Amino acid sequence: MSNIGFIGLGIMGAPMSRNLLKAGHSLVVFDIVPDLVAPIVAAGAAPAKSCADAAARSEMIITMLPDGPQVEQAVLGTGGVLEGVRKGSTLVDMSSISPLVAQKVGAACAAKGVEFLDAPVSGGEPKAIDATLAIMVGGDAAVFQKMQPILQTMGSTVTLTGAVGAGNVTKLANQIMVACNIAAMGEALVLATRAGLDPEVVFNAVKGGLAGSTVLNAKAPMVIARNFKPGFRIKLHQKDLRNALLAAEDMKVSLPLTSLVQQMLMALMNEGKGDLDHSAIVTFIEEMARTEVKKAAAPAHTA
Ligand code: NAD
Repeated sequence: MSNIGFIGLGIMGAPMSRNLLKAGHSLVVFDIVPDLVAPIVAAGAAPAKSCADAAARSEMIITMLPDGPQVEQAVLGTGGVLEGVRKGSTLVDMSSISPLVAQKVGAACAAKGVEFLDAPVSGGEPKAIDATLAIMVGGDAAVFQKMQPILQTMGSTVTLTGAVGAGNVTKLANQIMVACNIAAMGEALVLATRAGLDPEVVFNAVKGGLAGSTVLNAKAPMVIARNFKPGFRIKLHQKDLRNALLAAEDMKVSLPLTSLVQQMLMALMNEGKGDLDHSAIVTFIEEMARTEVKKAAAPAHTA
């Protein structure tokens, strides 16, 4: 069993740290929001005073933070992991961040004799609770092998995808496919609804064919039921597509569909929809067509 420092106890970090505790590991935990620390301490973890303190008391450190700036602050900043960490320790950043930032943090760790993996996840809160996340890892194969049993405590698939940064490139590829898929589904269902068809009938007609997908099965019923409770928030998906576009610019790659959907997400955030589920991308297309995707009203009963 290992001594693990866990930093970032939000929607994902809280259940992930609980699963590590259940597996018998000793945890030292930190979050800038004290109310999020107390329940994990009640479950058996020790509280840390700072990121540096959590790192000083552990041989492995896991971070689960919103985005690159928070990871840079928590690792490289004042009171950060690198101030307290011992040489030979391992840092695994499981946040979804820009691959460029992952490489920057990885290089700073290497300069201090600290091993680093980037290991973002897919699956959301339900899979974080069930410990069935898909974990996409970038880094050295030997470090991956050492950390694999710990990562398997939180996920059902743990895949080494390449060098440091590759985990986040894989996660961005995932996020591009999901976002464009939801937008395409929105255009399709708006067209069908405007033509007078019942979107539920259309969904059932196509889901077994080539257009069928996990995204369609998960998100079309939410749209038809007008249920946009997250799930995965619009503002987090906007952040992921922004990171995809930054990485693409660095590599001189054009991603026209990604940039279009990123603009839709930005407009939705300006409308106050940033905390809705990303299935609400469909509402952007609905507004342009003045057509809401919903089940057709039952015909009036005639005696
Ligand atoms: P969250 O905002 O709920 O949690 C992040 C936590 O980090 C917060 O509790 C915050 O207080 C803490 N934090 C911020 N800066 C800090 C610092 N400097 N030091 C210590 N703590 C700090 O976010 P989340 O939903 O748990 O997501 C975490 C990451 O996982 C994100 O990168 C997100 O894109 C990714 N992700 C989320 C989901 C999901 O469904 N929520 C799914 C897959 C991946």
